[in-house]
Amino acid sequence: MEWIRDLELFLQRLPDSLSTVPETFYGLIAEDFRGPVMGGLIGASIAWLIARTVFHVGRKAVGTAGTLSATNFSEQQYQHIFDSSPVPTFICDVRKLRLLEVNAAAVGEYGYSRDEILKMTLTDLGRPEDAERLSAALLNPTATGTDVGTWRHLIKGGLAREVELTSFRAQFARKPARIVVAHDITRRKRMEAVLWQDAARFGVLTRATRDGMIEWDLASDKLWHNENYQALSGFPPDELPQSMTDWFESVDAEDRARVQQQLLSVTKSREERWNEEFRIVRKDQSVVHLLARGVVARREDGVATRLSAVLQDITARKVSEERIRFLADHDELTSLPNRSLFRHSVDQAIQRAERNKKMLSILFFDLDRFKNINDSLGHDVGDEVLKAVAERLRNCLRKSDLLARIGGDEFAVLTEGLTAEDQASTVAKKILEALAQPMMLAGRPYRPMASIGISTYPSDGRDAPALQKNADIAMYRAKEEGRGTFKFYSEQLNTHSIRRLEFESSLSEALTQKEFVLHYQPKVDLLTGQVSGVEALIRWVSPTLGMVPPGDFIHVAEETGLIVPLGRWIVQTACVQNRAWQKGGLPHLRVAVNISARQVAEKGLVEMIQDILEKTGLPAESLELEITESVVMDNQDYAEKILNRLKDMGLHLTMDDFGTGYSSLAYLKKFPFDSVKIDQSFVRGIPDHSGDVAIIEAIIAIARSLHLKVVAEGVETAEQYEFLRKLGCDQIQGYYFSRPIPSSEIVTFMYKLMTRDPGSKTGS
Ligand code: C2E
Ligand code: MG
Ligand code: MG
Repeated sequence: MEWIRDLELFLQRLPDSLSTVPETFYGLIAEDFRGPVMGGLIGASIAWLIARTVFHVGRKAVGTAGTLSATNFSEQQYQHIFDSSPVPTFICDVRKLRLLEVNAAAVGEYGYSRDEILKMTLTDLGRPEDAERLSAALLNPTATGTDVGTWRHLIKGGLAREVELTSFRAQFARKPARIVVAHDITRRKRMEAVLWQDAARFGVLTRATRDGMIEWDLASDKLWHNENYQALSGFPPDELPQSMTDWFESVDAEDRARVQQQLLSVTKSREERWNEEFRIVRKDQSVVHLLARGVVARREDGVATRLSAVLQDITARKVSEERIRFLADHDELTSLPNRSLFRHSVDQAIQRAERNKKMLSILFFDLDRFKNINDSLGHDVGDEVLKAVAERLRNCLRKSDLLARIGGDEFAVLTEGLTAEDQASTVAKKILEALAQPMMLAGRPYRPMASIGISTYPSDGRDAPALQKNADIAMYRAKEEGRGTFKFYSEQLNTHSIRRLEFESSLSEALTQKEFVLHYQPKVDLLTGQVSGVEALIRWVSPTLGMVPPGDFIHVAEETGLIVPLGRWIVQTACVQNRAWQKGGLPHLRVAVNISARQVAEKGLVEMIQDILEKTGLPAESLELEITESVVMDNQDYAEKILNRLKDMGLHLTMDDFGTGYSSLAYLKKFPFDSVKIDQSFVRGIPDHSGDVAIIEAIIAIARSLHLKVVAEGVETAEQYEFLRKLGCDQIQGYYFSRPIPSSEIVTFMYKLMTRDPGSKTGS
C-alpha cells in the first residue's frame, strides 16, 4: 500500500507547499500580479494532485495484478485512466529504461508519435549529460522512493521544459517495470522565479530606502514590521510593539488620538489609502516625524483585512521647515522675534487691551555707542554683544513680556496688562539694570548702556505704527537727556515717575501705619438665594491720598515686594473675620482672598496659609483663593505644585478674571480649580453684545464639562442677573446685590437677604 502512503504524504504536503509562500511574501507581490500568480500555483497543484490520484489508482491495479490487467479494474478501464490522465506517464523497462508504453498526454506534450516514442528510452527524453544520473536514480535496486527529482526534458524540435519525475516499480507484461510520471513544472518555476526576483528586489529596495514598514492584520490586531522600523523606533526587537494597540502607545501623545481616529475612519470607510504625518517617540525619548503612506486590503464585501504602510522618516525636513518658518519672523542671530512679528504681536495685544480695558506699553531702545564696538573690534564681537544682551534681557523680563530685535542694535519690548500708565517704568528700570552689568570684550570690561523710549496704549496711540513712532521719539528724547535713562512719550508721565517714588515710600509705610482695611463683597448662591461667600477686597486709606483703590497700588506692592507681608496681613484679617462671623452665629460663609503672582512665586505661601488657619482655627474649606490666569502662566510647573498642595489642604480654588487670559482652557484642565469666575468685561456686554453672550455660554459649557462651578462678577443690572441665572451660573457677585462693604455691614446685608420677600433683591 506504498502508493497510498505516497498519496497521503502528498496530500499533507500540498497545503504546506502552497503556504511556503509566506504570508508576508504574499503581501509583497505587486497587487496586480497576485491573482494570476497564486491562481497558477494552486491550479497547477490541483491538476497534479488529480493526475497522481488517477495514476495511483491505476498503479494499484498494476501492483496487485502484476500485469496491466487488473483485478478490480478491467484492462480497458485502466487503459482509459492511463490515457485520460492529463499528466505524461511512461512505462519503461528496468534495464535500459526503454519505453514500453506511454499515455496520450505524453504523446501530446512531447510532440513525438507513439511509435517514435516507443523506440526511445526515457533518457532520450532528457539531456545527454543527464542520462547517466537519471539511470542511476531510476535503476538503483534500492531506490524505492517515488520522487526522482527535477529534470530538463526536451520535446521534439529541441525545446526544453522543466519536469518533476515521479516513479514507481510495477509489473508490465509480467516483467518488472518502472512507471514514470513527468509533471511539467516549467510554468511554476517561471512563476517562482518571478516571485523570488520580486521578493529579492523588494528586500533590497526596503534596505536601500531605509523606510520602515508595518503591516497590521485587523482581525488579530497583530503587527509586523521590517528591520528598518526597528532602526526608526530605536527599540530592541523584543520591545517592539506586537499589536496595533501597543503601537499606538509609541505615537506622540499629541498626535495619538488623531492617528487612531484616522485609521479607524480609513478602515471603516471604503478608502484605499492612508496618508498621514505624525510623530513617534523613540526609546531614547527623542521624537521622529514620520510620513506614512499605506494601503488597505479589503475582502470582497469591503471589510478591511490588512493595512500595509511605508513609514518615511521626515524629521530632517520637518526641522528645516520649522527653522524656515521660525526665521520668517525671528532674528537669526539672537532667535528673538523680528520687527514683523513684533508689529503683529502689538496689533493683537491692542485688541486684548481694548477688550480688557487694560493698558499696554512698548519700550524702544538701542545700545549706546554700539557702533564704536563694531568699528573698533569687528562685527564678530558686535554679534557676541548683541547675543549677550538678548540673553540678559530675556532673563530679566517676565515671560509674558515680548522682547524683539527690531534691527541692528535696536530692541523693543511689549508689556501688557498694565493698570497704570507709568507701570512700564519698572520694566525700563529692569532693562537698564540688566544691561549695566559689565561684560568682558577683548580683555576689557564693557557696560552696555541703552536709552529707552516708552509709549503707552491708548494714551500715546491707538495702533501699532503710532505707538512705535512715539516710542522712537521718546527714545531720542531720552538720549538727549543723557545716556542710560528712559523717557515716556507723554511729558505728564515723566513727572509722574518722580511722584511714583514718593508713592512707593508712603505705601511701604502704610502697613505699619495700619492704613489698610478689607471690604467684603457678598457672593449670592443662585440656587438658595442666600449669601454663600464673600470676597475680601483691600482698600488703602491714606492720610495724604485718601481712599486708594487696589488697582492703583497692588502692582506697586508686587514690584516692591510689599505684597508678601501685605498678603499675609490680608489672609490673616479675612480668616479672623470669618471665624468671628461663624462664632457670632452667622450661617457658614466662605471668605475669598485674592492671591497675586508674586505671592505664589514667593516660597512659603502654603506654610503661611497653613499657619494662619491653625492659629485662627478657621476650617480650610471656609477659605477660598482667587487666582488669575497670569499667575499660573508665568511658572506653570511650580504653580501647579503649589495649587495642588493648597487643594489637598481643603481650600477652595477659583480662577479669577476668566476669559481675559491667553489659553484659558488649557490652564483650567491642568490646575485643580473648583470654580471659574467670568470676568466682568464679558458680563458688561450682556445681553446686547452677542460676542460676549457667546463667550459666556461657552465658558459655562466648558466649566460644566470640567465639573467646575461658575461665578459671574460685575453683575450690575437685573437683566444681567436674570440672563446669567437662566444660563445656569452658580454664584453672582456685583453691585446688583452689593458693593464691597465693611465687615460690620455684612451681617445687616445677610439679615436683609434672609428676611426679604422671595423674588426681590436687596441692594446695599
Ligand atoms: P477682582 O478680584 O476681579 O475683584 C473684582 C473687582 O470688581 C473689585 O474691584 C470689585 O470692587 C469690582 N466689582 C465688583 N462688583 C462690581 C460691579 O458690579 N461693577 C463693577 N464695575 N465693578 C465691580 P477692586 O476692589 O477695585 O479690586 C480690583 C482688583 O484688585 C481685584 O480684581 C483684584 O485683582 C485686586 N485686589 C483687590 N483686593 C486684593 C487683595 O486683597 N489682594 C490682591 N492680591 N489683589 C486684590
Ligand atoms: Mg477676585
Ligand atoms: Mg475678577
